[in-house]
Amino acid sequence: MSDTAGTLYLCATPIGNLEDMTPRALRMLREADVIAAEDTRHTRQLLTHFEIHGTLVSYHEHNKEKQGPILLEQLQAGKTIALVSDAGFPGISDPGELLARQAIEAGIPVVPVPGANAALTALVASGLSSTPFFFGGFLPKSRKNRREKLEEWSHIPATLVLYEAPHRIEEVLADMEAAWGDRRMTLARELTKVHEEFFRGRISTCRAHLAEHPPRGEFVLVVEGGVASPAEPAGDPLDAVKALMAQGTDKKEALSRIAKVYKVPKRELYNRLLLEKGE
Ligand code: SAM
Repeated sequence: MSDTAGTLYLCATPIGNLEDMTPRALRMLREADVIAAEDTRHTRQLLTHFEIHGTLVSYHEHNKEKQGPILLEQLQAGKTIALVSDAGFPGISDPGELLARQAIEAGIPVVPVPGANAALTALVASGLSSTPFFFGGFLPKSRKNRREKLEEWSHIPATLVLYEAPHRIEEVLADMEAAWGDRRMTLARELTKVHEEFFRGRISTCRAHLAEHPPRGEFVLVVEGGVASPAEPAGDPLDAVKALMAQGTDKKEALSRIAKVYKVPKRELYNRLLLEKGE
């Protein structure tokens, strides 16, 4: 790293409500030599709203290979760059991730400037356990690859948080129910916007809801986690039951899922649970 290297600031921007713009991110955008944006027209509107007149360059999925080295050169020459995505925290399911990694590899200081993020905003109001959680971003677009991915993730014992485009959501939920069973889930729509909505239920009830209210706007899917892989169930099954119940799964369902995975009689687990509770 040269002594004169500049800094890459990863600046979060609102995911809908402009009041979520932080004073710190505004200052970074004002002070940066260059603002690298996923969509310059979109970001120009944001900057105009806040009366910021910075130098904008584009950095997006389709020019990141070419534009990345140019930005890195500017950083190495001592410039300060503020990176913003269309919405939320750059680096979460957008091209910001690559630039941050390249800057780190080049020894350039990378400073996060936190703010809105769709995944966390959905998770905290989902009613599902936030510890642990697993962020999966977007599932593959091809049905075959998507089904493989869902299979691969079916035993993750953590609440799953996913992004999805509205035109694909119904297909994705159908695949999810087939791969994961009818787990609890929350559909979070249009977060922080006028039509913000949470639909909390199960995969099947979310599907029924969408059949009646065709999906419009932006969505985050928050889905109850699975249980340890049936191929290698480890430890005491009663501990697994208790872990699921601690995540909010009801007793009956936790018992039946764990009994299946560990191949033990449900009744035996139920009796042990009662015994332990002194019931
Ligand atoms: N970097 C962003 C972040 O920190 O959340 C995410 C960028 S990703 C390209 C865009 C996806 O985030 C959308 O397709 C949607 O799934 C989700 N998203 C963004 N804004 C949202 C909102 N206001 N309500 C619900 N989901 C949103």
